Amino acid sequence: MDKREIFKESRDELTGLLDKPAFYEWAQELIDDADEGSNYAFIFLDMENFKQFNANYGFEKGDDLLKDIAHILRTVFDSQLVSRFSGDHFVVCSDITQVVPAILEVKKQVKSLQQDINLELKAGVYLYDGEVTNVIRCTDRARIACASIKKKYDIDYKFYDAELGGHLARKQFIIDNLVEALANKYIQIYYQPIVRSLTGEVCGWEALVRWIDPNKGTVYPNEFISVLEEYHLIHKLDCYVMEEVISTFAKMEKAGMREAVPVSINLSRIDFEIIDIASYMNELLDKYQVKKELFHLEITESALTKNPEFIREQISRIRNCGIKVWMDDFGSGYSSLNVLKNYEFDLVKIDMEFLRGFDVNDNGKIILKHAISMLKNLGFHTLAEGVETKEQYDFLRSLGCELIQGYYIGRPVPLEEGCEQMHLAGRDFEKLDERHFYNKLGLIDLLKQNPLRHVTSQKSDALPLAIGIVKNKKWSFLYINDAFQEIIDLHPNAQGSLESVEEMINTYKSGPGPLSMFW
Ligand code: C2E
Ligand code: MG
Ligand code: MG
Repeated sequence: MDKREIFKESRDELTGLLDKPAFYEWAQELIDDADEGSNYAFIFLDMENFKQFNANYGFEKGDDLLKDIAHILRTVFDSQLVSRFSGDHFVVCSDITQVVPAILEVKKQVKSLQQDINLELKAGVYLYDGEVTNVIRCTDRARIACASIKKKYDIDYKFYDAELGGHLARKQFIIDNLVEALANKYIQIYYQPIVRSLTGEVCGWEALVRWIDPNKGTVYPNEFISVLEEYHLIHKLDCYVMEEVISTFAKMEKAGMREAVPVSINLSRIDFEIIDIASYMNELLDKYQVKKELFHLEITESALTKNPEFIREQISRIRNCGIKVWMDDFGSGYSSLNVLKNYEFDLVKIDMEFLRGFDVNDNGKIILKHAISMLKNLGFHTLAEGVETKEQYDFLRSLGCELIQGYYIGRPVPLEEGCEQMHLAGRDFEKLDERHFYNKLGLIDLLKQNPLRHVTSQKSDALPLAIGIVKNKKWSFLYINDAFQEIIDLHPNAQGSLESVEEMINTYKSGPGPLSMFW
């Protein structure tokens, strides 16, 4: 029987195009018989908004659209191999030399079928070069190229290249080696210190993973977290991190080490879909017999976009167990304000992006001032991450941002190194019982007394405000605002020095007290 007759049996029922097995078989024959110098292109086509088209117009209209697209492809790629793989995925194997004009022609004709829903056709192309000879792999490369331009509205097609290939190889490395890397402890936990702006003491750590491969060197989380999420493997990593952190800090706490201040652990949205975080944390806390106050969980804003009701419930369960939940990267997404309205968090970490460009204009400063004030009024504790300079630190401290994290304080490093660095920098570690006191203080909106004050004005027109503490029978200032500093500047004996005012207070015996001029 003629080959074409055989393939009549292997047609896609809806469109009459070749189905996937027939395409592979026929294309493989072409490739196997190809002479040197023959040009074959594998083209993978995907309709971006097809799901929405189906939802709006129903499956019958959706089917009609697929048939129309099939007709267009058959006409443009006349006498070439054209196939529908599944849904809205079409694949062409063509020996025409001008692939791009053909793709653009298909795109133009598909566009003319458009009604209210924008129909975006994306194409990925792999030009056969003999490097891989298996048609499944050739098609896969075209598919990868197509996937790489998903949701990129200004790009219609993409050729598979070495960079995409490298990306794919890295992905494969991560998927294939995760279990071994965990078992061999190539995945290590680094810790970045968090300080309380009122006291300068270290009051926490954030656990951040590093994959230190003996051959490849250090791989950063931005390279592998998203891959592990995509392949639903992230819980393996996060369960490992939870156990490592809890066991390490349980030992430190039992040894009475001051450095055992609370640690925050990052979670991914996918974790919630795969494991029961609240139960898992409780199991570990039981196993290692350690206080739950020592651990917080961080969830990024993007985790809240899908299935919000379920995530809200999970957050609630974790908090009901007495484990605090922090929101990470606030302000980096699109729906931040609603998130604050709809979820219960104990603390909000403000994204480092707001701190960038302090020298270009004051917009970041103004946003930060109002964001911190708003968060405090909503009852959230505040932390700014990515603080790199003294200027940024001082500014955030003046706003009353409670906690600060960033390279200015310390980079993520192995725990022992982190502790040593903090000691060398002369930083103390906050005691757990003092934490409750400072937590209460931290919620006060220090800027509230004069909301009209412009944040960037050099001198404040606010009322003088100071917060002091008596510790070991000694008074010291934790916070003063600009107006208070102005008074100190004018004080004849103080001459602008806060330390001399503290000294005066602490050595005061009788008569009008040194603070009498302040109130
Ligand atoms: P994140 O949780 O927002 O962590 C903060 C990131 O900012 C860290 O990057 C940290 O090294 C970096 N950073 C800290 N201070 C500064 C600074 O002053 N300047 C700049 N430019 N960067 C600073 P890292 O360690 O590469 O982690 C990236 C992201 O990967 C984390 O962002 C977190 O979302 C994710 N991640 C890290 N470890 C884990 C983990 O164990 N599990 C999960 N699910 N995600 C993790
Ligand atoms: Mg984080
Ligand atoms: Mg963050």
